[in-house]
Amino acid sequence: MSFDERFDVIVIGAGHAGLAMSRCLTERSIDHVVLERGEVANSWRTERWDSLRLLTPNWQSRLPGFGYEGDDPDGSEDLLWMLDADPLTYRNFAEEYYERSVNLEAVRQIYDHTLLTENLALKLSHELSWDALKKDALEIGYPIL
Ligand SMILES: Cc1cc2nc3c(=O)[nH]c(=O)nc-3n(C[C@H](O)[C@H](O)[C@H](O)COP(=O)(O)OP(=O)(O)OC[C@H]3O[C@@H](n4cnc5c(N)ncnc54)[C@H](O)[C@@H]3O)c2cc1C
Repeated sequence: MSFDERFDVIVIGAGHAGLAMSRCLTERSIDHVVLERGEVANSWRTERWDSLRLLTPNWQSRLPGFGYEGDDPDGSEDLLWMLDADPLTYRNFAEEYYERSVNLEAVRQIYDHTLLTENLALKLSHELSWDALKKDALEIGYPIL
């Protein structure tokens, strides 16, 4: 591409929005160029976590020309398997997902519905807002000091 070339449309960024737009423009034979400061899907490759999971049901994972065709359109099994009442299951999941160590004893106390104190909460996360957590705990009826 040279600086004196002309295009009808310039798409900035080759993330999935930019790539989807490019696909739609191509289908309509609209002359365009995609400008990307890094490589294709740059932010997904370099600015996201390895543990990244899609947050939406599989059937919603669509791009122009691509729809989910697997045998698990809901995809909730990915989380429901965790509800086996075993603190170790959650601890192992959380360590992989959040990429840090998680205090098993503190998780066990939560599973036992031990009275929630700021000290117990801090064993699970140093980044929490105690006021916000208290509000959430009251809302779901978790016993709290
Ligand atoms: C930290 C973080 C974690 C996330 N985790 C998840 C998750 O677990 N699951 C999930 O479903 N979603 C997650 N998201 C959301 C998801 O990443 C975005 O919704 C999605 O990437 C948006 O797609 P996009 O194509 O609009 O933008 P992006 O994917 O960000 O693509 C934008 C592209 O444009 C390029 N670009 C930007 N500026 C310029 C420029 N001036 N010139 C040229 N190129 C440029 C960038 O390099 C990039 O390639 C997360 C977002 C963040 C910030």
